[in-house]
Amino acid sequence: MIKCPSCERDQEPRLLCAQCGAPIGAGLDLFAALGLTRKLTLDPSRLEEIYHELGRRIHPDRFASDSIKLRDASLRGTALLTRAYRTLRDPVSRGLYWLELNGHKLADNNKSVPADLAEMVFEAQEQLADLRTARDDSAGRAEQLRGEVAERRSELNRMIDDARRELAENFARWDAHPEKDAYVSSVDGANRDALVKELKSILSKIAYLRTLTRDIDRELDSAQAA
Ligand SMILES: [Zn+2]
Repeated sequence: MIKCPSCERDQEPRLLCAQCGAPIGAGLDLFAALGLTRKLTLDPSRLEEIYHELGRRIHPDRFASDSIKLRDASLRGTALLTRAYRTLRDPVSRGLYWLELNGHKLADNNKSVPADLAEMVFEAQEQLADLRTARDDSAGRAEQLRGEVAERRSELNRMIDDARRELAENFARWDAHPEKDAYVSSVDGANRDALVKELKSILSKIAYLRTLTRDIDRELDSAQAA
């Protein structure tokens, strides 16, 4: 329980007081900050609406002439709200955060190339190296390689789309266990471990594909400029 800095009513931690609407600034998880249960599937337009509505109600300008305590709570609440919105609107960062909340943080050393991507990643990096070399040596060859790399870029886009579909399916399977705040513990052991493993592997795959995509874009940009 937490006390509202304005009306002093005791209540469950939340962004805004249930009684008087003052900012409370309590330490909340990012789902709770937006008043959401810990569901992985989230409608982006609804998220946007919630964010703007709460943002208006907690905005520091509204509390400019209030006590330091209230102004401070409004600032902290606004920062929390922004962090919640940015983290939860992207399905990948939402999945990573959700795993962390449930005690399955993706290891920081999880940087190795997922096995099923290794060959494609190797080929892409070779293409990029060739393109860098050709840029200095031969305009014709560089032109041809740019085409190949652009094709690779489209292939990566398709792979990211596929992985995001897999991610949405994984999310839906978790969300099918509706016990509030107990999704992980409500799925039986073996099933749960398999789902966690799958979720981690999809998230790593997307993170990896995004990094490779950025590398390619950078190279295509400088090829353009050359
Ligand atoms: Zn209050």
